Amino acid sequence: MDRSVSKRKKSYNSYCVGVYNVHPYIFLNYNRDIDSLLILAHELGHAIHYYIMNKNLPFRYTEFDSFIGEVPALLSEILVLDYLYNDKKYSTYKKSIINKKIEFIKYNIYNIGLEQEYVERIMRCNNEINKQTLDKIWADINTDYYGKKYKLNHFNKSSWNKTKNLFDDLSNCKYMISSYLAFKIYFNIKDGNKEYLKLLINAFSMEAKELLKQYNLSSNSEYYLKAIFYEFNKNIDEYRILECVKKSL
Ligand SMILES: [Zn+2]
Repeated sequence: MDRSVSKRKKSYNSYCVGVYNVHPYIFLNYNRDIDSLLILAHELGHAIHYYIMNKNLPFRYTEFDSFIGEVPALLSEILVLDYLYNDKKYSTYKKSIINKKIEFIKYNIYNIGLEQEYVERIMRCNNEINKQTLDKIWADINTDYYGKKYKLNHFNKSSWNKTKNLFDDLSNCKYMISSYLAFKIYFNIKDGNKEYLKLLINAFSMEAKELLKQYNLSSNSEYYLKAIFYEFNKNIDEYRILECVKKSL
């Protein structure tokens, strides 16, 4: 962790590598801000996962699907945000903590949902596919997701072309499913369910489908999606209240 390296020399990359029979290695830069803390939480989530897996499973079972691997990392981010949010020590930073909670759902679930539907609408489109058509579908879907007041400007009217992995729907979708599963486990932890530790141990030894079935992770999707968006709306309301308080001071 390059905490003491000057900002200029810092690397923007971060990753975690699990080495069987040794221990996981983490590489990341650290700027003493909330983003760095969340990156650290993310990579530590991977590291703990590798650690538990290596302790409990023979080497031959240590292959896994990337979407399963992201679950503990994203869960770790959610838990850190939850911890910061509930600890009075950090009350002066409440607005930026809530903002991060909103961004987490917006980027990892809502926006990926928008992008997936964008691809679907292109597939269903009967007109000739050219830049104008793609811009038009992009404008329509942004209005549908962000409301009529949201207008795309000169800079983002074609921002569909900057979307990472847009047409690789599998990798995009996988990240959204990982985020959804991380939330589902988070809600279970909040309800006092300790099953999630078993999940971390077993996750790598199972086929993704089998895992989802065994831990009941694919059921009640609608219920949990509603819970995620309830959380999202609650955070937005709270952010607005804090803004009003600030203005009235
Ligand atoms: Zn990751």
